[in-house]
Amino acid sequence: MSSPKANKVKQFEYKAEMKQLLDIIIHSLYTHPEVFLRELISNASDALNKVRFLRLSDSENIEQETELAIRIRIDKETQTFSIEDTGIGMAMDDLTGKLGTVASSGTLDFLKNIKKNDKNFDGQLIGQFGVGFYSVFMVADEITVETKHVDKDAKGYIWKSAGENTFIIEETDRASHGTKITFKLKDEHKDFAEEYRVKSVVKKYSNFVDYPLYVGDETINQVSALWHRNKDAIKEDELNEFYKFVSNDYQEPLGHIHLSIEGNVNFKAMIFIPQTAPPNLFSETHEKNIHLYSSKVFIQDDAKNLIPDYLRFLKGVVDTEDLPLNVSREVTQSSPFMAKINKVITGKIIALLEDWAVNDMAKFDTFYSQFGSIFKTGINTDFANRDRIIDLLRFESTATKSKKTTSFAEYVGRMRDDQNEIYYLSGPTREQIERNPNLEYFRKKGIEVLLLTDAVDIFTIPYLNEYKGKALKSIDKADIDLKGEESKDALGEESSRALLDTFKKVLGDKVEDVIASRRLIDSPATLVVGKQGMDVQLEKMMQMMDKDFESSKKILEINTSHQLIRNLSKLNTSDPDSAKLSDAVNQLFEGTMLLEGYLKSPNDFVSRMTNFMVDATSQ
Ligand code: ADP
Ligand code: MG
Repeated sequence: MSSPKANKVKQFEYKAEMKQLLDIIIHSLYTHPEVFLRELISNASDALNKVRFLRLSDSENIEQETELAIRIRIDKETQTFSIEDTGIGMAMDDLTGKLGTVASSGTLDFLKNIKKNDKNFDGQLIGQFGVGFYSVFMVADEITVETKHVDKDAKGYIWKSAGENTFIIEETDRASHGTKITFKLKDEHKDFAEEYRVKSVVKKYSNFVDYPLYVGDETINQVSALWHRNKDAIKEDELNEFYKFVSNDYQEPLGHIHLSIEGNVNFKAMIFIPQTAPPNLFSETHEKNIHLYSSKVFIQDDAKNLIPDYLRFLKGVVDTEDLPLNVSREVTQSSPFMAKINKVITGKIIALLEDWAVNDMAKFDTFYSQFGSIFKTGINTDFANRDRIIDLLRFESTATKSKKTTSFAEYVGRMRDDQNEIYYLSGPTREQIERNPNLEYFRKKGIEVLLLTDAVDIFTIPYLNEYKGKALKSIDKADIDLKGEESKDALGEESSRALLDTFKKVLGDKVEDVIASRRLIDSPATLVVGKQGMDVQLEKMMQMMDKDFESSKKILEINTSHQLIRNLSKLNTSDPDSAKLSDAVNQLFEGTMLLEGYLKSPNDFVSRMTNFMVDATSQ
């Protein structure tokens, strides 16, 4: 280049994670190349929304004349494609920070995983990850972006990248604000230089773009806000495409609500529940899920307070006439209208879920398996709807088959007259919980126990305390109301007390207490938590996060009907100080620790066991 500006060309290096991501996009994305069109149009539409809003809210500083539109131009001969918008444009910071950066940290891991499992990973997935722009690399080897921000004194820039490791930016003179993206199509995708092809793809969702969209000289969309139309006048197809357009999802939504509310707050809303949760449902802030409009004019896509945190997976639009357009974002956030809209949407979504729970179980189960974990945190935050959320909770239980769930209401319906408490036990998987000796008593008595396998349950369920007057009790705890009749094989009171004393002496401060159990049938011993103790699973979670976390001491319960315990009792009478007895006590204790995942080092356990085996096998 001989232009005098050549010295202003600056080269930038993509960050490591972005490089890897580009590598995946360029070498592993093969299906649905047409997705690049949706992504570019969606970006242009976002950029135009931002200018329109500025024109209204900052009218003195923003020019008002340029037509807000999107233009696609194609040239069959040279296989070039360009899309230009008169939107907000990008400043230097946007080009280096927003355009070339992976939006979320979980994205890369997720993509790598997909790559490992399936080499032809689906191009439709890309928009979800905040890197939609880069889908262009499915159809082109090099991209040029020419852009100028709408600010009065903004400079124009050209950004160029071949996707490999670097991009360059140089200054340019550009008359209009907005962005033009140009590239030469790869041979295998030259069909996107055909008007009919581009039009057929673009038609699907261009009607959701609120600005004229030209392909060549022809406008191909009718500008209309879908949510202002009558419910009955919207075809399912349109609804699905609209959802995909606003959400960047590739699947159809699981369900939606379409609201038209008039009264002490006035708004229209179209809110969708997706079919699958994003990989980062918990770690991300998900601010851009609900787009806020005021009288059909886009205001912002990161409005807080429009939906509660525990419904953060919802996507869609809210359009209200109650918000003046020229208010600042901060005022918008704290407007009482926002809280009212939030309340209405929350109530309607819960009502939809309640309806599914009765009339469409399959849908409800899909919802619950995808979003249940986040939804149930509403118990701790949404006191107005707490009871409704509690009734929507589902758990596996000893009365359900694997993977089938039940509700508190159903559990209570099955309770026997003399049962006053609702029992649960938590653990990482159903299989592991089912091996817990604390279940033996309940199994024998046919008392149902809820099996809590979701990690979130331990942050919510222990705090419920009760459901409709029935106390909720973890059967890990020492204070449950067991009506065990003494087994006739059990040790007498005196020998029992003597043996317990020996256990306490041997174990010392390794345990909080040693007591005779009423809940064990087949196992000789088990660990339980004291009344005040922390839930076992919660404690394990704390340990995972902080390896110095001291777990609380447990209570050892022993089964005084068990043959082993009765043997030990005899030994305790004949030779209370024998090494064999104290070894057996330690071995039993460490065995329960091992089962619960608390045993830090198995060395002593194994060497003791070896000794016992030597003993048992000597002729
Ligand atoms: P997302 O749209 O999810 O943020 P993209 O990869 O599609 O992810 O775009 C990244 C960012 O680049 C956008 O958030 C925006 O800041 C900027 N950008 C992309 N296209 C345009 C455009 N046509 N006009 C203005 N900014 C744009
Ligand atoms: Mg985008």
